[in-house]
Amino acid sequence: MAYDSDNIFAKILRGEIPNNTVFEDDEVLAFHDIAPQAPVHVLVIPKGEYVSADDFVRDAPADVVGRFFARVGEVARSLGLADDGYRLIANTGAHGGQEVPHFHMHICGGQQLGRMLPKG
Ligand code: 5GP
Repeated sequence: MAYDSDNIFAKILRGEIPNNTVFEDDEVLAFHDIAPQAPVHVLVIPKGEYVSADDFVRDAPADVVGRFFARVGEVARSLGLADDGYRLIANTGAHGGQEVPHFHMHICGGQQLGRMLPKG
């Protein structure tokens, strides 16, 4: 799937849409989800153009992938989530329920989050 530079996170990265930033460096932006599904719900995205987790781990250089996941951990820790724990989610593609076609990792926490998936 080709990268769509009109997706909402691309617009956030270009500064065309505001966001509530938690962390930013040359490669990564972390910001609060606009419709939080947990007391803490932050999105971490690479600044590079990767459609999904599949795309990111396949096409991004290994050092970029490594630094991305290191930043995810640092952001979670900075949000005070490390001691009690948290959930990382990367919805991927149609079956994964991915809505925004720019790879992002959800960090959710702040309470016991219950079942990983609905029963079904
Ligand atoms: P997905 O379903 O693709 O894994 O998650 C997309 C997430 O992006 C959703 O949790 C949704 O609330 C969030 N989102 C969609 N549009 C915006 C926006 O304009 N700003 C922010 N901060 N989050 C957004």
